[in-house]
Amino acid sequence: MAVSGDRTASPPFGRFFLPGPTAVRREVLEAQTAAMMGHRGPGIQALMEELQKGLKDVFRTERPVFIAGASATGFMEAAVRNSGPGCILALTNGAFGERFEAIGRACGLDVEVLSVPWGESQYPDRISQRLAARDYEAVTVVHSETSTGALNDIEAIARVVREHPGTLLLVDSVTGVGGAEMRTDAWGPDFVLTGSQKAMALPPGMAFSVASDAMMARAEKAPGRGMYFDLVEYAANMEKLQTPTTPPLSLLYALKTQLAAIGEETMEGRWQRHLDMARRTWAWVDEMHGSGVDVSVLAPEGSRAPTVTCVCLPDETGGPAVVKAMADRGWVIGGGYGKLKGATIRIGHMGDHTVNELEELLDVLGDVLR
Ligand SMILES: *Cc1c(COP(=O)(O)O)cnc(C)c1O
Repeated sequence: MAVSGDRTASPPFGRFFLPGPTAVRREVLEAQTAAMMGHRGPGIQALMEELQKGLKDVFRTERPVFIAGASATGFMEAAVRNSGPGCILALTNGAFGERFEAIGRACGLDVEVLSVPWGESQYPDRISQRLAARDYEAVTVVHSETSTGALNDIEAIARVVREHPGTLLLVDSVTGVGGAEMRTDAWGPDFVLTGSQKAMALPPGMAFSVASDAMMARAEKAPGRGMYFDLVEYAANMEKLQTPTTPPLSLLYALKTQLAAIGEETMEGRWQRHLDMARRTWAWVDEMHGSGVDVSVLAPEGSRAPTVTCVCLPDETGGPAVVKAMADRGWVIGGGYGKLKGATIRIGHMGDHTVNELEELLDVLGDVLR
């Protein structure tokens, strides 16, 4: 592929269905060309005040939403570092749950794992049993497991974890927030994080998070919280509508533009649009199956993410060829993740896509698979 030329000019919006980064609308891309400003003056405070309003609605919280110049993994590390030195229980059902586990170990914590097979979701009663057996300082979980398209029921898991007041619930909602229903204050997890480049349909480079009072109290005593992801610093600076270090200003301009659009659509509208896209994808897989193409949705009905679908292919090694055949036709979909690379493909129906654009994608994909 040529590397020169105006890369923003092509392909047209609506053909890029990677499960992150997702397609970014031209208006949002162009917002990034605004001039720089000082990051300690009234200009940033006015901007930050507006961003906070929009972000609180996205997270459904009254608490401050922290903004980091980092990929989402940065705030995953923040979650672990700020939750203290004790043992954590990592709930895993895919690659990103396993990443949380790996981060815990890399940060020197004691980590135990409660895993279910890739594609399945966590069972709250099994979590309950584990939590009854010993004390954990925190539980990590991924809301929407992007590697498999499985959705964990954060409301139910939070209910179980809340029965153990000393245990924090840390949630990676990277392909949740902005696409899948997430009610931070009502459900009550202690830390919820996301990245800019998934369901929020922004360029990569920003991470967002919300921390509960219990999480902040823990952070104050966490010896290994480090400096760059010290949540105590984030909270202190947010009181002044600022960030601990220089924020990614151009991305903040893009965020402002995108939050205005999200406000117009409303979060309820956004959740519904994602559900509509997901349901259309699942129905299409069933139609394909009915017409003799042996495809299926990896995650069982009832625990599927509205933002990403992992499709099992007839051929155990066919994934890369399908992705390439789509690319040859001008469409981008995701390959299978990790050990699912050969046997699956993934469709990222999230961000600012519509059912109509998805319909066109599925037409082309149907031709490829037949
Ligand atoms: C993409 C993704 C991440 C990692 O995001 P980065 O921005 O690349 O750090 C973590 N968790 C989930 C569920 C994801 O989908």
